[in-house]
Amino acid sequence: MHEWALAEAVITAAQQIAEKEKLREIKEVTIKIGELQQVEEEILRFALSQLKPASFKNADFHIEKAKTKFKCRVCGNTWLFTKNKLDEETAEAIHFVPEVAHAYIKCPKCGSPDFEIAEGRGVWLESIKGVR
Ligand SMILES: [Zn+2]
Repeated sequence: MHEWALAEAVITAAQQIAEKEKLREIKEVTIKIGELQQVEEEILRFALSQLKPASFKNADFHIEKAKTKFKCRVCGNTWLFTKNKLDEETAEAIHFVPEVAHAYIKCPKCGSPDFEIAEGRGVWLESIKGVR
């Protein structure tokens, strides 16, 4: 069900921006989804199409995946999550439970397992286009 809550949040945020920018009609909305976020894109798209208000009726929703970025708490190094370095099963576990990442991933620079996920979680509005 959380795709519906996400769709609602996206539309609310997009409406606020549209209002601020004085856009009468929205043409394009780009949404980014962190690759660690569990989102059924099909359901999200359906929810968006059902929930969108009149000013969004001709809007295209673009959904893009955002790479996961880790930041080491010890040395400050940042690096991107690359799935092919891990076996499939581990990668799936990490997608399912981001917290599990700490058991498998270490900083490539200093070897510390103490890192945070800097990017790759959550859903956010990347851009919105429309006409005034
Ligand atoms: Zn480090």
